[in-house]
Amino acid sequence: MSARILDGAAIGKTIREEVASEVARLSGNGRKPGLAAVLVGEDPASAVYVRSKGKACEEAGMHSVTLRLPADTSESELLSTVDRLNADASIHGILVQLPLPRHIDSEKVLRRIDPGKDVDGFHPVNVGKLVTGDKSAFRPATPYGVQQMLIRSGIETKGAHAVIVGRSNIVGKPMANLLIQQGPGGDATVTVCHSRTRDLPTVTRQADILVAAIGKAEFVTADMVRPGAVVIDVGINRVDDPARPRGYRLVGDVAYEPVAQIASAITPVPGGVGPMTIAMLLQNTLQAMKQADLD
Ligand code: NDP
Repeated sequence: MSARILDGAAIGKTIREEVASEVARLSGNGRKPGLAAVLVGEDPASAVYVRSKGKACEEAGMHSVTLRLPADTSESELLSTVDRLNADASIHGILVQLPLPRHIDSEKVLRRIDPGKDVDGFHPVNVGKLVTGDKSAFRPATPYGVQQMLIRSGIETKGAHAVIVGRSNIVGKPMANLLIQQGPGGDATVTVCHSRTRDLPTVTRQADILVAAIGKAEFVTADMVRPGAVVIDVGINRVDDPARPRGYRLVGDVAYEPVAQIASAITPVPGGVGPMTIAMLLQNTLQAMKQADLD
């Protein structure tokens, strides 16, 4: 068997186009969603993410602001920046790019963001709303993107056994919370695994849908996958590759070639979950403006 490739670039593009046409419609009424990204320090990967988020925003016709602060910005300065953005009526979504420098308490900063502008969905108010099934929750963009990918690829989650490897607040936990909600893209039976899980391969082999969010290159091997399973690879890892101009290439948390031989569907890296994340961030920013208009 050779797996169907779930093309996140194509699905993400469709979502971005849907958002863009809704933005164009609302712009006619003088309403324009605005997203502010705050980047502290010079982390090259973070700079790339923030740049591509800004570009995607502009392409969707949204207002985009990027605030680049020096690495030695104090916690109180960053909190004041968040306060200013909270009060800025042209900004509907705020994201503070993680990781923050070590001298800043990330939790404190994330909690300072107005929950109504928390388009990353990391504020405890939004986490609580997600858990309780409140539709006004902002769903964290990466697991939300995975869920959309499943829905739009016609993969039934209802009654399926979804096994998630990884329990981070950014991916694993919200992924589980999305998949157990009632309704489309939900109603799954969910198992969450982590580094303390006993006999991981026995658990992962029970998955109809296997989501890998581990952060270890090609960790999930074919013997860990049930033939016919749907495999979603969230991981983005750099591995040395002298043949590449940059000296590295990107691989996921799944050993793609052997697993693609036995899975029924699989996401590639790059071009799988990654492009979905930005698309869902735009979707959340649009949602933020619509919800603000209703308040
Ligand atoms: P974290 O490091 O926060 O979490 C990794 C999780 O994997 C932890 O829960 C950890 O368990 C678990 N884990 C680590 N080793 C093992 C093991 N040997 N067996 C079982 N579980 C293990 O990572 P993130 O969730 O932030 O990210 C995961 C991956 O997804 C990364 O590669 C990251 O780059 C990528 N990513 C991709 C995004 C995208 O847009 N596509 C967005 C966000 C992340 P424990 O809790 O016990 O330590």
